[in-house]
Amino acid sequence: MLKPPVIPLRQAASPNPLPPNGKHFHLWTIGCQMNEADSAKIAATLQEAGYTATTDERDADIVVLNSCVVRQAAEDKVSGKLNSLIRLKRERPEVSVVLTGCMVTNQHDRLRERFPHVDLFFDPSDFAQLEKVAPEVSNLSDDLAELPHYYADPGTSTSSTSAFIPIIYGCNFLCSYCIVPYRRGKERSRPLAEIVAEVERLVAGGVREVTLLGQTVNAYGHDLADNPGLADLLRAVDAIPGLARLRFLTSHPKYMSDEIIEAMADLPSVCEHMNLPVQAGDNDVLRRMRRTYTRDYWFDRIQFARERMPDATIATDIIVGFPGETETEFLQTLELLERTRCDKVHLAMYSPRPGTLSARWEDDVPSAEKHRRHRELEKLQERIQTEISSERLGKTYEVLVEGRSKGRWTGRTRGNTLLHFEDDRELTGKLVDVMVTRTSPWFLIGEVASPPR
Ligand code: SAH
Ligand code: SF4
Repeated sequence: MLKPPVIPLRQAASPNPLPPNGKHFHLWTIGCQMNEADSAKIAATLQEAGYTATTDERDADIVVLNSCVVRQAAEDKVSGKLNSLIRLKRERPEVSVVLTGCMVTNQHDRLRERFPHVDLFFDPSDFAQLEKVAPEVSNLSDDLAELPHYYADPGTSTSSTSAFIPIIYGCNFLCSYCIVPYRRGKERSRPLAEIVAEVERLVAGGVREVTLLGQTVNAYGHDLADNPGLADLLRAVDAIPGLARLRFLTSHPKYMSDEIIEAMADLPSVCEHMNLPVQAGDNDVLRRMRRTYTRDYWFDRIQFARERMPDATIATDIIVGFPGETETEFLQTLELLERTRCDKVHLAMYSPRPGTLSARWEDDVPSAEKHRRHRELEKLQERIQTEISSERLGKTYEVLVEGRSKGRWTGRTRGNTLLHFEDDRELTGKLVDVMVTRTSPWFLIGEVASPPR
């Protein structure tokens, strides 16, 4: 998964940040890239208001938890973190504890009863609420919308390479297992000009890669008066001078139109990587999931993308152990993955989310069976990724260098594969052609093949 951008704060920020006020904030985030982007903006807002980021919550005046409850495992982590803060709050009652993200329901009173040590609950992306614990934010209110989504990591001053930009909030689908529409509301697209201006500011600050975000990113624009589509936005952002790479996630199969795929193929900055969750390989399961498409429809979108972009890489999401999933239905998923040969599969074991439709159905696939199906798919996918990777040996790929890890440079190909290599020069943010010398199912190793640019 991509990590949040790290860029020098003052470079791309608003013109008049408030002076440091000696106060600190600590930010803890789990969940999807949308949460990462929201956290980046929370950090930017607090830093502009004069606060300094700290990695140690014991030094903080404000602790912000950005939560995820899309699966039980994530919710358990948030609950654990919230409980661990009870002691901090007891020892230092003046600390403000803030909870945002998908754990925040519209019933704040119930949340207050459950977590009395939390001072503020706010809905995802409702950044102005921060004013309630950081009054200095009110002096920024005119600039708040202008602040780009980025995160100035404490302890680093390196320039950033990539940024996540939400372009559409919420989701209009009602997949039977999913909590997201209940917590993030209906689709709301940001105006095209506002997004283009944000990307221009980020590129001026040194960002070279932008990922446009949405729960259903390819539904972009349907709710706007002039009705632009994602393809229009891709064209407008691609035209920004200096932007090397453009990505978008997550797409819904139903909206993966020919026009968007053609735009991906035609526009030089748009990477040939498609994130298209299928969730299950069986049509009956897809119907019970209320996904609104069939397995053949999903497969057709992949085939069309591969026709137009022979090097396209594909990522997908799968849920195993959905209520009523039989062995035969599960085998359909196995078969679909075998046939499609995705480059990456995000696997999840079903967990009921209270309030959703499927939570009213019996969670009847036993836990051990969910684990077995999960392992089966993991094994299959590891074999497929081993084969795909080994075909890359000796080929040269353009890598956008993100930074150093374990003594090597690390970055991604346009197809979003991790590639590591050694070199003595400073290469963060550079595009480098790298020839693959070793492969593994999870990443590639290579040697620089031409001068960095
Ligand atoms: N908008 C995206 C997915 C958003 S949720 C889409 O349409 O596919 C992110 C992922 O979490 C999903 O792809 C799904 O695989 C997983 N997920 C969501 N709800 C889940 C649940 N109740 N149990 C297990 N996994 C779940
Ligand atoms: Fe959830 Fe379905 Fe919306 Fe994705 S499309 S966020 S899975 S409801």
